Amino acid sequence: MYQAKAYSVASATSPFHSATIERRDPGADDVQMEILFCGVCHSDLHQARNEWSGMMPTVYPCVPGHEIVGRVTKVGSAVTKFKVGDLAAVGCMVDSDGVCPECKAGLEQFCSNLTLTYNFPDQHLGGVTYGGYSDSIVVKEHFVLRVPANLDLAGAAPLLCAGITTYSPMRHWGVTKGKKVGVVGLGGLGHMGVKFAHALGAHTVVFTTSSSKVEDALRLGADEVVLSKDANQMAKHAGSFDFILDAVAAPHDLNAYLNLLARDGNLTMVGAPEQPLPVSVFGLLFRRRSFSGSLIGGIAETQEMLDFCSAHNLVADVEVIPIQKLNEAYERLLRSDVKYRFSIDMASLQSE
Ligand code: NAP
Ligand code: ZN
Repeated sequence: MYQAKAYSVASATSPFHSATIERRDPGADDVQMEILFCGVCHSDLHQARNEWSGMMPTVYPCVPGHEIVGRVTKVGSAVTKFKVGDLAAVGCMVDSDGVCPECKAGLEQFCSNLTLTYNFPDQHLGGVTYGGYSDSIVVKEHFVLRVPANLDLAGAAPLLCAGITTYSPMRHWGVTKGKKVGVVGLGGLGHMGVKFAHALGAHTVVFTTSSSKVEDALRLGADEVVLSKDANQMAKHAGSFDFILDAVAAPHDLNAYLNLLARDGNLTMVGAPEQPLPVSVFGLLFRRRSFSGSLIGGIAETQEMLDFCSAHNLVADVEVIPIQKLNEAYERLLRSDVKYRFSIDMASLQSE
């Protein structure tokens, strides 16, 4: 066991402060990394403030962070994919049972014995897992990803959650050239969704509540932008979409988007407001529309996504912050005031 520096919260209403946490010494299958950058996901905020108390209550102290890139500092004797000095990355998962049908299918995110990167029972040290708002982490090799050398590291960190969470449903639902694809909510996830839909060749339409984001949406790859509060703009797209990805973190009207789907169109929810949202059954019956959800993506698909980003020279648009600005960053996240992901420069933790 060794001590690592971290930023943690003590309760749903306390600010982040610097802290020391324990990490395990790397075992035979483990990779130890120095963390260089960690993205700030809206899930971190939901979890730090116990907004998912019904589904996943938060255990305090809580150290979030699941968009991690860094450099390998130590490897266990059985590790084959990494050596000291390599770039490496960790996303939302750090363990699963490896033997169930989900794991065998490369869908570790659906394993019933999954361990998430933070706020999940820690099989090694007891207590709960601690995430990437820290200077170091130890993770089983299977859950460590390779970072392509051409990617900017601060911008690559958000790919580990915002990237895979938007890439995976687009691949699953067949987003390609010739399809009309909508992305709802231009935040951390949404802006990656726009980049992927565009790179996959789809006609890409952004739905935003923020008129200030229209130009950015076009720059990020949207072909059209709709201000979702304007009913006339919405009505023009009725019945026309093959696929819509909804990445909104708060309650909103899903039926307004279901009505925009064409026959056999699908609306996939990746945003995770805890409250149930009403869905009009008639909106589904007509045109045989479907409504579904999606959770991050498996390890093999996460590596595929990173390699896709490498080939297309894609990373997140980030605002790099020192960790001392974390509390302010959370407030800005709540105001949809981030372009389009905060990425923490972990070197700043050394001054604590
Ligand atoms: P974010 O950066 O805060 O972006 C959310 C965006 O939603 C905002 O930028 C805003 O876009 C829009 N929005 C916010 N409040 C709204 C409201 N009241 N009505 C309509 N639109 C609103 O958040 P994020 O990090 O992208 O995460 C988004 C959600 O996905 C969170 O709930 C997070 O927990 C969840 N998530 C799920 C998974 C998964 O595996 N399913 C993985 C990661 C995150 P505009 O300004 O363009 O309207
Ligand atoms: Zn996330």
